[in-house]
Amino acid sequence: MTSHRFKATEQAQNRSRIDVKLPSEKVSDYFAQNVFTTDAMRRYLSQEAFESMMGSIHSGQKIDRSVADQIAAAMKEWAIGKGATSYCHWFQPLTGATAEKHDTFFTPLDSGRGIEAFSGDALVQQEPDGSSFPSGGLRATFEARGYTAWDPSSPAFIMMVGTSGKTLCIPTIFVSFTGDSLDYKAPLLKSQHLLETAAVDICNYFDRNVSKVVPTLGWEQEYFLVDEALFYARPDLMTSGRTLLGSPSVKGQQLEDHYFGSIPERVYAYMLDFETEAHKLGITIRTRHNEVAPGQYECAPVFSEANIAVDHNQLLMDLMDRVARRHKFRVLLHEKPFAGVNGSGKHNNWSMGTNTGKNLLSPGKTPKNNLRFLTFFINTIKAVNEYADLLRAAIASAGNDHRLGANEAPPAIISVFIGSTLTDVLDELEDKIKKGGKMDEMEKAELKLDIHNKIPDLLLDNTDRNRTSPFAFTGNKFEFRAVGSSANCGLAMTILNAIVAKQLTEFKDEVENLVKEGEKRDGAILRVLRRYISDSRRILFEGDNYSKEWEEEAARRGLNNVKTTPHALKFFITEKAEKVLVESGIYSHRELHARFDVWMEQYQRKIDIEAGTLADMVTTQVIPAAIKYQQIVAGAVRTSMDIGYTALDFQQELKLVKTLADHVNTLKKLTDAMETERTNAAKPDTAEERAIAYCEKVKPYFDQIRQHADALEEIVADDLWPLPKYRELFFVR
Ligand code: ADP
Ligand code: MG
Repeated sequence: MTSHRFKATEQAQNRSRIDVKLPSEKVSDYFAQNVFTTDAMRRYLSQEAFESMMGSIHSGQKIDRSVADQIAAAMKEWAIGKGATSYCHWFQPLTGATAEKHDTFFTPLDSGRGIEAFSGDALVQQEPDGSSFPSGGLRATFEARGYTAWDPSSPAFIMMVGTSGKTLCIPTIFVSFTGDSLDYKAPLLKSQHLLETAAVDICNYFDRNVSKVVPTLGWEQEYFLVDEALFYARPDLMTSGRTLLGSPSVKGQQLEDHYFGSIPERVYAYMLDFETEAHKLGITIRTRHNEVAPGQYECAPVFSEANIAVDHNQLLMDLMDRVARRHKFRVLLHEKPFAGVNGSGKHNNWSMGTNTGKNLLSPGKTPKNNLRFLTFFINTIKAVNEYADLLRAAIASAGNDHRLGANEAPPAIISVFIGSTLTDVLDELEDKIKKGGKMDEMEKAELKLDIHNKIPDLLLDNTDRNRTSPFAFTGNKFEFRAVGSSANCGLAMTILNAIVAKQLTEFKDEVENLVKEGEKRDGAILRVLRRYISDSRRILFEGDNYSKEWEEEAARRGLNNVKTTPHALKFFITEKAEKVLVESGIYSHRELHARFDVWMEQYQRKIDIEAGTLADMVTTQVIPAAIKYQQIVAGAVRTSMDIGYTALDFQQELKLVKTLADHVNTLKKLTDAMETERTNAAKPDTAEERAIAYCEKVKPYFDQIRQHADALEEIVADDLWPLPKYRELFFVR
């Protein structure tokens, strides 16, 4: 076996489990110990500062500079007490990862001594040298400054890197010198605010006590683990997070023995370790299990307010990566690390919760509460119907293209699954309400009671599961399943909040207009909902979303099926996007277009890195291995001729030499052709043109090249093959 692959496999085989020492037997003993929680605030802040913090967290009130000084001092005291030596503004630039710039508390004084200092100014605003973060042209280099500004609604936390070096992290938004947003968080916060305003108004139809509504998010994070040594022996995993080559393992996921199977010890230790770190950071991880593909796993928290949940997911992805290294693993968050087995997603469970403790997508115990439920339920469906394309754009990435539209969970066609119980309810509602005319009180009351009787208190156990739907109602929440595993779910959440907010505002206008015309409110609500049901029929689909028939049916219904990122991203610069995202103030026109450019650029660069890596692997690893083997076989042919005695049938030997030569020649041609296209694709002036060129001219070579390389893997002598094979990546751990 080539020495690299051999050593890697041996190393991976000989690893022993790294034991994890839990801080205590009960998670509750250390949960959120590294978070500046409300409790910690109460202990460290003056009454005035504490109230100011609460006002800011709960109703977005501005914090005075003088109070900010007090808060900073308290945070510093708390953090130093926990062993922190520095602080950083933690933010989520458009790269999709998180970013941090550390400063030490230590401040030298004239006397040659120094003190630990952290001022209100340093807490509230920082100026990281942001010139290398993607900005889509929002910052010319001469004004390359970017600012981070404190988001008090997300608590500060202490991050530990390695065994020492603790840092106080302040969650912040990231804006340019000109005030343009350059991150995922600021638009998310704006969308939450919009949704809150729109939803509170509607809630007040049913309950005057509702004064606050927050979108809630519970994500489910899927990931793969591979041994570190094997990871390093695969250039493609190192540069792209996915395998660009690799013949399928004879045993893959077909026995279905991995799903919910027992967790291997080394993996279990890893999970325990990152969960413990997560718990200390207040991340409510609760669920862990094996996933369908070999080497694939999932974890999920208890849901929380969307902004916090997004921060926690970003933080967790970072933690998972760091902790994996401790265990000599690499975590693969890519949407499709391996061909032929399942990819990874990040289901976004989304709902709305009120200050009165109600989940607005949970059916109620009374007819009135069920009308409220239906109102939010149907408005969400209507919003998805109107803006399905924007949801599609929100989940577009080079990695996710391998799932969406590639015969794999979920398809690129956005549709909504609601289950048979609610389908019946909607059918009846549509049927029973007269098109025109007013309803009398009796009719209304009957109808409400009727609906109520049809909706069970606990839909959770009643909702049939449709695993193929990209957007499914699961009893008391919608589950947006098409989000990619590596994505910052802030974007998907921003768009979802925005379209539902817009929809609820329109709903309110329509209801009020009917009321002005003399209709009673409940009657007006029912009548508008009825129309929404009729209007949104095309988005509802209960069948198999992977089937060919659905593709055809969806086309008839006028639903888009956009399979690649550059084309999906275009939805962001349509008039419709402008209406719902710009007029609402979530993005400025410039900000939206800048994002479009950044994401196009990112797509192009990712494909470029993959193309470069692929060419390199083929040229320096695959072809040389094939040639070596060909020499051996050719040697055997010659010996056969010399001694007139053949190891293999003589014709077979010759055929093998020829097959090897054919693959090598084709690979060489394809790789050269791809490299030419790659050079051309980088030429156009706009990011959009380049992205499309990479998508349409460069990427198609990937599969062709892979076919020949994988065919070689299947015939070249195993000990000559340089790259860890799928079976090793899957099963050695
Ligand atoms: P599944 O069957 O999909 O595994 P679970 O009941 O385990 O469903 O929940 C999956 C995720 O949904 C969890 O992260 C959970 O916190 C989240 N979730 C539950 N209720 C809500 C809600 N009201 N809003 C947002 N997320 C929720
Ligand atoms: Mg789920």
